[in-house]
Amino acid sequence: MIKVALVALPVPVNQLYSYSMSEQENLVGYRVLVQFGTRMMTGVIVGYDDNIQARELKAINEVLDIKPFYSNEMLQFTKFIADYYLSSWGEALKLASPPGISSESNTFIEVNEDYSYDDLLNLRKSSPKSAEVFHYLVISKSKKINISSIKKTFKYSSVYSILENLDRKGFIKINSDIIVAPHIRKVKTLVIDPLFINNENYLMEELQKIEQKHPYQARLLSYIYIHQKDGKTVHQEIALDETKTERKDLQSLKNKKIILTKYIEDTVVSNNENISLSNVNELTLKLTNEQTFAIEELKKSINSNSFSPHYLQGVTGSGKTIVYLHLIREILEAGKSALILVPEISLTPQLIDRFKMSFGDAAAVLHSKMSDSDRIITWRQIAEGTLRIVIGARSTIFAPMVNLSLIIVDEEHDLSYKQESPSPRYNARDAAIVRANLENCTLILGSATPSVETYYNVLIGKFKKIELTTRADGAMLPKFIPIDMGEARKHGAVNGSLSTFLLDKVEEKVQKKEGVIIFQNRRGFSPVLRCNDCGIVYECEHCAIKLSYHKSRNVLRCHYCGYTIAYPDNCSSCGGSQFEAVGYGTQRIEDELIDYFKAKGIKISVDRMDMDTIRKKGNQRKILENFYTGKTDILVGTQIVTKGMNFDRVTLVGVINADLQLFQPDFRANEKTYQILTQVGGRAGRKAGMEGTVVIQTYTPRSYSIQSAINNQFDEFYQKELKIRKSALYPPYSRLILIEFYGDEEEMTHYYAVNFRRLLPPNEDNNLEIFGPFIPTMYKAAGNYRRLILIKADKSIDKSGNKIRALIKNALSNFHLNISPTTVMMKIDIDSYSQF
Ligand code: ADP
Ligand code: ZN
Repeated sequence: MIKVALVALPVPVNQLYSYSMSEQENLVGYRVLVQFGTRMMTGVIVGYDDNIQARELKAINEVLDIKPFYSNEMLQFTKFIADYYLSSWGEALKLASPPGISSESNTFIEVNEDYSYDDLLNLRKSSPKSAEVFHYLVISKSKKINISSIKKTFKYSSVYSILENLDRKGFIKINSDIIVAPHIRKVKTLVIDPLFINNENYLMEELQKIEQKHPYQARLLSYIYIHQKDGKTVHQEIALDETKTERKDLQSLKNKKIILTKYIEDTVVSNNENISLSNVNELTLKLTNEQTFAIEELKKSINSNSFSPHYLQGVTGSGKTIVYLHLIREILEAGKSALILVPEISLTPQLIDRFKMSFGDAAAVLHSKMSDSDRIITWRQIAEGTLRIVIGARSTIFAPMVNLSLIIVDEEHDLSYKQESPSPRYNARDAAIVRANLENCTLILGSATPSVETYYNVLIGKFKKIELTTRADGAMLPKFIPIDMGEARKHGAVNGSLSTFLLDKVEEKVQKKEGVIIFQNRRGFSPVLRCNDCGIVYECEHCAIKLSYHKSRNVLRCHYCGYTIAYPDNCSSCGGSQFEAVGYGTQRIEDELIDYFKAKGIKISVDRMDMDTIRKKGNQRKILENFYTGKTDILVGTQIVTKGMNFDRVTLVGVINADLQLFQPDFRANEKTYQILTQVGGRAGRKAGMEGTVVIQTYTPRSYSIQSAINNQFDEFYQKELKIRKSALYPPYSRLILIEFYGDEEEMTHYYAVNFRRLLPPNEDNNLEIFGPFIPTMYKAAGNYRRLILIKADKSIDKSGNKIRALIKNALSNFHLNISPTTVMMKIDIDSYSQF
């Protein structure tokens, strides 16, 4: 009988595709190769449909796996993500497989050499068909036996179950990904054929025969034998070298079928010469009472094997990481597994060092600089359950964990958890809640400065709160000192962009050899260049944003698309030649500090950490190392310095302009300001006996987000923010959906946007607020004109968002968008974090 499989494909169309197949087994979760249009594509079987006529359909070209690649939980999870974020299931499934797995691949099968004859006899008795297939695999001895050749040889209808059975019993190994990943380093190793190794007398006889005529061959053979008996891997080249044998000797042993070549993945990691940014195994520290309590509570929750979401509220430096470390140790010992999400892993090398210090290689790190092959290998080890502790950035939420018992989302407020593109535009923090629910496990969202959404979820009882109210080890929270820059300027107490108050503090700390961080949320020398004659400010030709002036290379550059021009001789609009750099970025602050202290005859060393200086691989680590060891006195940086830095020697943090974030056209401006000031301030005074000071320069010292951060008024801030959000119907009270149209022809773009708006219901219905299409502040990006439609859907009426999604889906099905690069494109962003 021919069946009809429903296949999810990674295309941006939200539907499943039907293909016929002759296999009778249930292959849900298997990857298949199918023809889609003119292309071959890898898809996933997600179900069957008996009501479709199979005869008219294309057949599946090949089944790529011999056991399910996606677990049931993973299928459910990705389905949820696709439905929620209005992407296709195929796009969501793609997130749950490591990149670099190509489609035109065969799964191939390798015989495990270490089976015993008893095993084989048992197999013959219990599953004769499996034994038959296995026998075929052993005698064909070819390195690449794929499923189709087995299917051709054996006309069994259940080849997949047979192979799965052999795999489960350890007779074979299925390598679906190795040959397809182009960059896996493989090395040749030598093994003695199992026929010989399992029959020592026979082997000894052979050895004696060989010894008489070919002593070199015999030496090589014994070398391999001894190593193999000890469970060691014999690398071909090393073996030849150490036994001083020649290749032709090896070849004759191979011809005699005594020795086999086996390819294995070379997973030796390159030597790491970096100094660690962590110098104690923090598991050995004596816990504070609050930490002990938190750990006990969370352990109970983990052991209950049920979905229980927690918010771990710990002030900066309270030792949240130590709580994680203890729970993870517990999980390792119990044979369970845990997933730890951190923001932008490449920006948090110190956190990784801290985990490595406690768990070594038992904790795997998935990061963006990993090669495809390393990623595939790690991915497979995770799926096999050999790697059980996995740390990574947002996409790690899709890791194929076995027996998942705990998910931690560290710094849950961080915006890097939201994927902007490609689709699905998921938020890993929110996805973690869904996954924890599906896997019945414990969830911890940790932060000193939670998102307003998380604070609200605690308030309504959705999350349980656990608190760490004091800094660990007796350190005090830092003292925040606001400097009213308007006042300071009036009194001549400002030098460039730095107040004399801050400069004096810096001097005092540098003399004491303590660390200073200066925070400016803008990189480069100065963001814009202005003509002094006509007042024009240089803008990017492709994006509606101003170009930044980079002093070191003397160029103007668009931070959005990379467009760069040389510093102009004459103004392009009036011909004038007098320009002024307006505003100030990290580089100018760095220069000002150097000049100021040079003039005073004080030797200091300043370094800078922003996206420009860390772009070079390894550079960030160097910058951090120098600051950690005290080679650098002052570190000037952007928001990167707020991320998880934990250096004892830092006692002063200066914020150059606390208003930068506040004046953004964004309803989250206050929230972000509060979070950034608290987080960057929290880098100071983390060690007992070394009091921290945070100097905040601002023109609006009375604004409530700045006041709340300065006075550590946590609840006051969130309560006030919630009130404002409620009155204006912003999240968490509404669901924000941003629909963007973009294209290189402005009129067309507008036309499409207006037409789509017409397909959505009027505002009065359904209690919706729909705005637009409107022209955003950044009306053009990377050469494309933009139009936005903003939807605020009241959560008190549509809690799950099902209603609004149905409305959008309905509009989409009536809307015909010609998706081609020259016309208009569309993006739907559910729970958007974009500014507009
Ligand atoms: P958080 O993540 O909450 O900001 P961390 O986990 O980074 O805080 O801890 C801050 C510092 O305090 C770290 O250097 C950590 O080693 C130290 N620390 C945490 N708990 C203890 C403890 N119980 N005893 C001594 N030092 C601790
Ligand atoms: Zn640009």
